Amino acid sequence: MLIDTHCHLYFDSFDDDREQVVARMAEARISAAVVIGIDPQTWQQARGLAEAHPNLYYSIGLHPTSELPAGFSAHEVFGPWFDSGNPPIAVGECGIDLHWDTNTLEAQQPVFRTQLEFARERDLPVIIHTRDANAETLELLQAVPGTRGILHCFNGSPELMAWALAQPQWYISFAGNVSFKKATELHEAARLIPAGRLLVETDAPFIAPQAMRGKRNEPAYVRHTFEALAALRNEPIDELEQILLENSQRIFGVDF
Ligand SMILES: [Zn+2]
Repeated sequence: MLIDTHCHLYFDSFDDDREQVVARMAEARISAAVVIGIDPQTWQQARGLAEAHPNLYYSIGLHPTSELPAGFSAHEVFGPWFDSGNPPIAVGECGIDLHWDTNTLEAQQPVFRTQLEFARERDLPVIIHTRDANAETLELLQAVPGTRGILHCFNGSPELMAWALAQPQWYISFAGNVSFKKATELHEAARLIPAGRLLVETDAPFIAPQAMRGKRNEPAYVRHTFEALAALRNEPIDELEQILLENSQRIFGVDF
């Protein structure tokens, strides 16, 4: 059994067949998926999905390209969610994104920082998004020591990888792009990272793996990404699958 540690099943591209998408997880032996909320509207949608499906879990975070309210306090806004009867299992995704110019770096930094501090205070895993901002992301991760979490949709940055592997409780999650034939830097990273620090995800509906390239991605396809990872590492499928399942259980504190 595998876990899709990161997907966005509330996107409208799933509106016509969301129930079938969830049903296809079991056929592919995907025992659970984590639906990642990125703003107040999607936090509600993600919670709704988790309440309706025993194999869906959810997280809440303020994505660096979401609308960022001035003075945002994760403690104030997230606290009640995590104290509720059906709490999220992680903070995020959050981080720094300098690819899109939706928000300035100066606007993104305090919003990322408060989420890191909240996660540390509550001992929650934090899910990191970083795009064209490896140095800026690392700067804040180092400024708030003692966190634990996941570098999501890992992009191959040697500096971020070295930092994560030097921390006791950080994991590196690969998405479908690790299966792309030309992704040689990602392939190299996928071979170097100890199995005990690896996770897989879809980031659905985005970045479908090579075998499904060009299609809408969905949680069942995480198996293709996993098989590509096992082939790159030349490791027995069953052993690696068991290790990845245990990694998912350890970081989220859930017996998936
Ligand atoms: Zn995402």
